[in-house]
Amino acid sequence: MNNDDEIFKQKRSVRNHKYRTKILASDKAEDFLKKNKEVCKKWRDENKEKVQAYRDANQARVLARAKEKVECECGASVSRGCVSRHRDSKFHKLHMLEKSRAEENNN
Ligand SMILES: [Zn+2]
Repeated sequence: MNNDDEIFKQKRSVRNHKYRTKILASDKAEDFLKKNKEVCKKWRDENKEKVQAYRDANQARVLARAKEKVECECGASVSRGCVSRHRDSKFHKLHMLEKSRAEENNN
């Protein structure tokens, strides 16, 4: 890839980011996210080889990120890959309930 391509990609990326930030702040955010989800899914279906190649090349990085510990809003330490499952757990729901009750008592 030559330098011009690199610059073009960077400019496009900045433009996309500005557009995304602007639209997410507006009242069209929900429509945009819904449509974007469909577009992304369609792209993934049409470019399965590219997706697989990326996975093969970055498997270690993706796994390392999934194993990374993050702190949940309930206070528990959970690995990034399991946050979504954790948020559905009894433990999380109970702690969030306790937290909201404690906040109510403070007010
Ligand atoms: Zn939690």
